[in-house]
Amino acid sequence: MQTFVIANQKGGVGKTTTTVNLGANLAFKGKKTLLIDLDPQANLSSGVGFTQKYPRDQWNKVDQAPYKSIYDVLIEKAPISSVFVATDVDNLYLVPSHLSLAGAEIEMVNILARENLLKKALNELTEDFDYVLIDCPPSLGLLTINALTAADKLIVPIQCEYYALEGLGQLLQTVELIKGINQNLTIGGVVLTMFDKRTRLAEQVVNDVQSHFDDIVFKTIIPRNVRLSEAPSHGQVIEVYDPNSTGAIAYRKLAKEFINKFN
Ligand code: ATP
Ligand code: MG
Repeated sequence: MQTFVIANQKGGVGKTTTTVNLGANLAFKGKKTLLIDLDPQANLSSGVGFTQKYPRDQWNKVDQAPYKSIYDVLIEKAPISSVFVATDVDNLYLVPSHLSLAGAEIEMVNILARENLLKKALNELTEDFDYVLIDCPPSLGLLTINALTAADKLIVPIQCEYYALEGLGQLLQTVELIKGINQNLTIGGVVLTMFDKRTRLAEQVVNDVQSHFDDIVFKTIIPRNVRLSEAPSHGQVIEVYDPNSTGAIAYRKLAKEFINKFN
């Protein structure tokens, strides 16, 4: 079992879209994959169609969740094996998130070894997965720290836009700090997202990132594709929503590259 954290404290760079669609494609290729939604926004949970199974006024309430979530695992010590659910995609499983997680970082402050909660939970997984992918909120708070502590490899999505590299130094510094607790953690790769071939700026960012990160950047570049942004509102992964879209083709290619790299 290999565990990947998908992180970048910059918001809206494609962390969740990458977690959902890379994960789904790994599952389609026969790899048993567990997605962990560590973001109180729960975009990953709705991206695979999970939250929509509940009335909106229920999964939208901070104080009461209609299902068990990662909050119960981290704060209430529920075994992670009792919380993960199968998704509509074969081989693809989800540990859902819920808005109640928004208070978790504050609740964690008083817990001993608070950066270790997710790692401990994962150690108790009774089922074996090929890959675990953890989607993070856009911050370097305790939730992201928990993910970095639990993971073997960090995947960083970078949006092909101005200021793309902003904040990256801080993330890499955090990784160095985490190595104090988790010597295993290495950089798994950088994924360039939302590439718009019509702009010269996107081209520049690609060149910039490739020259900075040379051997760790994935060759597959994810294009800007409106179908990718529509799919979550249907609770479908891109491969189901529109398998012929440029977005679907790109994430299929990324999954292939990923498996070759981490088989
Ligand atoms: P946050 O930091 O808020 O968690 P994020 O890094 O997880 O954001 P996403 O939610 O994946 O980013 O993407 C941000 C927005 O951009 C979403 O509306 C998503 O549907 C859209 N999006 C992501 N990737 C693409 C793409 N390649 N083409 C077009 N739209 C995209
Ligand atoms: Mg997200």
